[in-house]
Amino acid sequence: MSNIEQTLSIIKPDAVERNLDIEIKEIFKNNGFLILKEKKIQIEKSEAEKFYKVHEIKPFYKDLCAYLSSGPIVVMVLEKANAVIANRELMGSTDPKDAKEGTIRKKYGISIDKNSVHGSDSLDNAIIEIDFFFKD
Ligand code: UDP
Ligand code: MG
Repeated sequence: MSNIEQTLSIIKPDAVERNLDIEIKEIFKNNGFLILKEKKIQIEKSEAEKFYKVHEIKPFYKDLCAYLSSGPIVVMVLEKANAVIANRELMGSTDPKDAKEGTIRKKYGISIDKNSVHGSDSLDNAIIEIDFFFKD
């Protein structure tokens, strides 16, 4: 059953810094994702705090927000059948050590915090996150 969805993907500072954004975008395209929108930006710490508000109570929240705002990122709207779960599968586990062979985090992730990509974790959050970066 075809169920076309859109999801938000971010290529995080550790990957952009290593000039991996073109390569990672190719992986999305080769896996059948359309990149509907994209922009390379650097966000303020206050914006990162808003974006990651769900993690406010986590011990890693402060470092996470400092990190996401530490350098350029590439933000994209990806489209595919079942895009949310398909993107999560292609990304791999949060900790690159646990990520499966063939996933983006396995290939490029440095550590649990510098794990190269973000992807929305549900359709509801995809809508919220796309709106966060691409509201126009
Ligand atoms: N993170 C971290 N330490 C942890 C868990 C998560 O620094 O112990 C960071 C990591 O960059 C992760 C982000 O916080 O991608 C959001 O965490 P989440 O559990 O939502 O993982 P994700 O959905 O990105 O796989
Ligand atoms: Mg998450």
